[in-house]
Amino acid sequence: MNPPTRHTLKDRDSKYVWHPLTQHKLHPHAMPIARAEGALLFDEDGKSYVDAIASWYTCMYGHCHPYILEQVGQQMQRLDQVVFSGFTHQPAVDLAEALIDILPFGQQKVFYSDNGSTAVEIGIKMALQYHANRGEKRPVLLAFENGFHGDTFGAMSVSGLSVYNGPFEAYFLQVERIPVPQEDTVDTLIGRLEERLAKKDVAGFIYEPLVQGAAAMKMHSATGLDKLLALMRTHGVLTIADEVMTGFGKTAAYFASDHLQTKPDIICLSKALTAGLVPMAVTSCSQQVYDAFYSDELAKGLFHGHTYTANPLACTAALAGIKLLRSEETWGQIRRIETAHRRFDDTIRSHQKVRSTRQCGVIYALDLDIDMERYGNLRDRLYRYFMEQGVFLRPLGNTIYALPPYCISEAQLQKVYDSIASVLETL
Ligand SMILES: *Cc1c(COP(=O)(O)O)cnc(C)c1O
Repeated sequence: MNPPTRHTLKDRDSKYVWHPLTQHKLHPHAMPIARAEGALLFDEDGKSYVDAIASWYTCMYGHCHPYILEQVGQQMQRLDQVVFSGFTHQPAVDLAEALIDILPFGQQKVFYSDNGSTAVEIGIKMALQYHANRGEKRPVLLAFENGFHGDTFGAMSVSGLSVYNGPFEAYFLQVERIPVPQEDTVDTLIGRLEERLAKKDVAGFIYEPLVQGAAAMKMHSATGLDKLLALMRTHGVLTIADEVMTGFGKTAAYFASDHLQTKPDIICLSKALTAGLVPMAVTSCSQQVYDAFYSDELAKGLFHGHTYTANPLACTAALAGIKLLRSEETWGQIRRIETAHRRFDDTIRSHQKVRSTRQCGVIYALDLDIDMERYGNLRDRLYRYFMEQGVFLRPLGNTIYALPPYCISEAQLQKVYDSIASVLETL
């Protein structure tokens, strides 16, 4: 083994490690992060970076939160891991109760898994098997154009087509993609869908409610989506809300579905579920969905499971996260960030390099009015600029967005805004 002193972590990393979502020829080096605390990441030299996207919207209460560490530390001494098929344990039951308490009306059962993609796989399987168990042949799924639901096969199938999932298109599930409705287009879309749904072959409709994260924080109106969901319900199509990104306070409600009238049949959760400590996911569903699987026939059960299902440490982290989410302090922080975003928006939205801006809860996005062809490496340039400024932002195409952890301080948030304002002057 090479002694670590001779080679930098960067070099050792590139020798054996293959990173996600990375073309290694174009981006040969990953940057080492040595530690994190609150809203800050620290590199090996001790330089700090404001984590303005909460490490992909996971660490919403801050990195290495002492309360979460303490709770998980205690649980670790009692029960680390146990098979969840046939056994149960207190953290899993406590978490199910805590989730049902805050989830939108109608959710009754909680199915644990490991990450956002598996939460979606399970949601899809629930929808397909629900109809099969009831003796109906419904093989088709509906999904939004430009949606993102994860990188496993089912999740890829229901995501919008892109360079990422394109090579696998031939192996997809049967999926039909529909446009995201805006208030002025929803009635036309509904007219078209009425005919389509009359064929009675659609099992489920999966959607990211109100904000499409990977599509660069695209936002749509609750009114349009509500009409669509009501239509699905009339036609017996199960609605699957993918709240992997939007869940746990980001839209200034516990869940984005709280802003909608029609509540989903199935909800997928991950990311901030465990407050960024360990991977875990949940697919919750209504009693009606569960009942279609409840039978004397073995084969009507949901035969899906992962080795680490309902890991006690993950459940404990999630419970601690929900406790923080429900605190006065967190809601004060959410309101403060919402107001700060609005104030910043007032100062920036009429800038000549800004095409448009949008906000939902603590999510803020700004589209640059720049020809992307001419600035092919713009995204990388923006990224590097922000890092030099000590701010971790990951622009998507010509969109810059911030989704800060709730614990971010006024000064840290101002640093994020200042870096966005100053990058505009470099374009
Ligand atoms: C991140 C994300 C997923 C996938 O979650 P992973 O944990 O990365 O597999 C699915 N849906 C949405 C909306 C997401 O933001």
